[in-house]
Amino acid sequence: MSTAARQGSREVRAFVGLGANLGGDLAATLRLALRDLRALSGCELVAVSSAYRSAPVDAGGPDYLNAVAELRTCMKPLELLDALQAIEQAHGRERPYVNAPRTLDLDLLLYGQDQLSEARLSVPHPRLHQRAFVLKPLLELAPDLQGPGLPPLQECLLALQDQAIECQGAL
Ligand code: ADP
Ligand code: MG
Repeated sequence: MSTAARQGSREVRAFVGLGANLGGDLAATLRLALRDLRALSGCELVAVSSAYRSAPVDAGGPDYLNAVAELRTCMKPLELLDALQAIEQAHGRERPYVNAPRTLDLDLLLYGQDQLSEARLSVPHPRLHQRAFVLKPLLELAPDLQGPGLPPLQECLLALQDQAIECQGAL
């Protein structure tokens, strides 16, 4: 039995989207972010998708490299968001304007079957079913996954074939 289970806290299956399009070696950035996720106490990194390259959606700038990580966590949702934002900051993340290029973006895509709508956190992530660069790696990890309040995710992905995305293999 895990420590979390022994202590009675709820263990939740969560998915985190990783993205980067600034700072040179994007795969190296994502690998470092995965190392930081692995080091979080209260989280176990269960699986990591392939990396996918795509052009920015609704923005200019260099291509993105994206991936999705599956976690098992006993952290509360806002606690997990704080941890993700601390990792972003450690990698020099700045937010000069909406959809600005970023050294590292970590989004909480799903937190179990919870639905949250708070000032700092919406879960499921509001745009997750509209982005091929999120759905492709997410469904690679969990083909039958469904999100609370979301349309069938495989159908969403099929409808996004105009969003070109290229698998780059394992990180
Ligand atoms: P983007 O939406 O392009 O990833 P940012 O990473 O700059 O933009 O995030 C903007 C804000 O979105 C953050 O300050 C955070 O509080 C909020 N936010 C709301 N829901 C989520 C979520 N599920 N995951 C990550 N950030 C979220
Ligand atoms: Mg973000």
